[in-house]
Amino acid sequence: MSVRLRVGLLAGVDPALLASAYPLVAAGTCAEGSSLVIDAVPVQVRCRRCQQLSAAEPNRLTCRGCGDSQTEVVGGTELLLESVQLNLSCTPGQKSEPTPV
Ligand SMILES: [Zn+2]
Repeated sequence: MSVRLRVGLLAGVDPALLASAYPLVAAGTCAEGSSLVIDAVPVQVRCRRCQQLSAAEPNRLTCRGCGDSQTEVVGGTELLLESVQLNLSCTPGQKSEPTPV
C-alpha cells in the first residue's frame, strides 16, 4: 500500500514534516501501514522581461537568463495526490476513529 504526493517546493508544505506526521494520521484508517511517497517539484519561473522559463530557488525567484526579478511562478506551488494504492480487504470504520488533533 502506498500514497504518492507531488509537493511543490513553494506549496508551503515541509516534506519532512509531512512524512513524519503521516503514520500518525494514517493510524486507525485503511491507510495504516502504507508508505507515503513524496515527489518534490522544483520551482520554475517565467520571466516577464525576456519570457524565458528557468528553474529557481524558493527564496530567489529571479530569471536565470537576464537576472530580472520580475518573474511569474509557473511551477512548484502544486500539492497533488498523484496515486493511492490501498488494500481492498480493508473495511473502513472497523477500527476506532483516530483522535482529532
Ligand atoms: Zn529574463
